[in-house]
Amino acid sequence: MDFLQPPTWAQALAAKTEYPGAVPIAGGTDVMVGLNFDRHRPEVLLDLTRVPELTQWSLEGQAIRLGAGVTYTRIINELGSRLPGLAMASRTVGSPQIRNRGTVGGNLGTASPAGDAHPALLAAEAEVEVASVRGTRRIPVTEFYVGVKRNALEADELISAIWIGLPSGPQQFSKIGTRNAMAISVCSFGLALYPERRAVGTGIGSAAPTPRIAAEAARFLADSLDEAGLWESRAELPRSLAIEFGERVKGAASPIDDVRGTAAYRLHSLAIMAARTAGWAWTDYRKAA
Ligand SMILES: Cc1cc2nc3c(=O)[nH]c(=O)nc-3n(C[C@H](O)[C@H](O)[C@H](O)COP(=O)(O)OP(=O)(O)OC[C@H]3O[C@@H](n4cnc5c(N)ncnc54)[C@H](O)[C@@H]3O)c2cc1C
Repeated sequence: MDFLQPPTWAQALAAKTEYPGAVPIAGGTDVMVGLNFDRHRPEVLLDLTRVPELTQWSLEGQAIRLGAGVTYTRIINELGSRLPGLAMASRTVGSPQIRNRGTVGGNLGTASPAGDAHPALLAAEAEVEVASVRGTRRIPVTEFYVGVKRNALEADELISAIWIGLPSGPQQFSKIGTRNAMAISVCSFGLALYPERRAVGTGIGSAAPTPRIAAEAARFLADSLDEAGLWESRAELPRSLAIEFGERVKGAASPIDDVRGTAAYRLHSLAIMAARTAGWAWTDYRKAA
């Protein structure tokens, strides 16, 4: 196996063009598990940890450009208030060791339906910036997941960054695992409120072949809040509305039975997580007045 360690982004992109089958490695918390279990044996590993740009984030107008190689620990420590939904999700990933190594770029590269960054990125309407020697493009995260553990990257492309708008309202994230730490999610849910445009963002994890949004449920909640004048009054969220929202989120999922949980349990828990996160986010919205 060849091990390439390009020191610059330009050289990393050139290497991916020369060796389209090369497997990029960032934190290695997915790649090394695969190698150790002999699930794959790539001819070329492309180590991205020497490329400085990937580990940087910056404020660009009203958005954060998050380098693909920024770790969960740094998101928690440095971006907790600017990317609250993603920071909440990051706190639930693995253990301190995994959060010190693991990156959002790696979560997107693996594109597991159970990856914890995905519901937060979906709810926040993020975009994935990908690059090759041919140029750079931005893919709405809703279009990035194209199948079970498959993403929209071309063979010569690498993920350079993730663009996430600064929050205009509260964000929440909830995850069920088989224990409190070091647990791949059984089911997860991300939610974002956009009060200035009377909208709701959602993200479902681990309850469909890919991470996905619950578009109809989000519209229902946003419109119901509008019709009842709640965006303006900031009165309490009716419990019946939160429960109906949860039911509609459940309707957007298509889970399977697997070792971590049954489809029925996932549907049930998803409805509860959606109703709860809506309640928590609404309480934050009321408090912010
Ligand atoms: C003990 C343990 C616990 C875990 N717990 C969780 C958890 O709770 N929640 C969770 O979501 N995940 C969990 N994971 C999985 C893993 O930590 C995450 O998916 C993490 O985000 C992977 O990031 P990484 O930088 O380590 O990726 P890597 O392993 O380096 O790479 C992962 C994939 O992304 C590709 N890739 C990496 N960077 C790029 C790039 N810039 N461009 C293109 N492709 C790229 C790689 O080729 C590979 O396919 C756990 C893993 C372990 C070992």
